Amino acid sequence: MNSCVLCHEDGGQILFKNDLYRIILVNDANYPGYLRIILNSHVKELTDLSDQDSIKVYEALLICERVVRDTMLADKINVASLGNVVPHLHWHIIPRYTNDLHFPNPIWGTATNNAYVPSGELLIRSKELAVKLIEKLAD
Ligand SMILES: [Zn+2]
Repeated sequence: MNSCVLCHEDGGQILFKNDLYRIILVNDANYPGYLRIILNSHVKELTDLSDQDSIKVYEALLICERVVRDTMLADKINVASLGNVVPHLHWHIIPRYTNDLHFPNPIWGTATNNAYVPSGELLIRSKELAVKLIEKLAD
């Protein structure tokens, strides 16, 4: 039996889903507006995808980054695909701020600003992000 968590759980609040992938809003109190694109099927590496599906995922990544960029007004956007812990293709799209908890480290790295608390404005923008992304992907 496959024990992969992403095969058995949505992985967060689903904002959009099609046959190939789902896009979720990650529930991370330190990182409002953090999105994840998760393949629906258990695929380990990007090169396991067909060219056509790779392009569809890339298009989704661009849409996610654009909406995060326009809505969250971050200092930098991190896009990452690791899969070391869960080897099921997924991508992280994370708005970063120069004063956030881990900047300039990856969010999985050492904290650099333990006093950081995301502003109420970021929480509001995160809700706007969800609405905008759903509208954009419905087009
Ligand atoms: Zn899986």
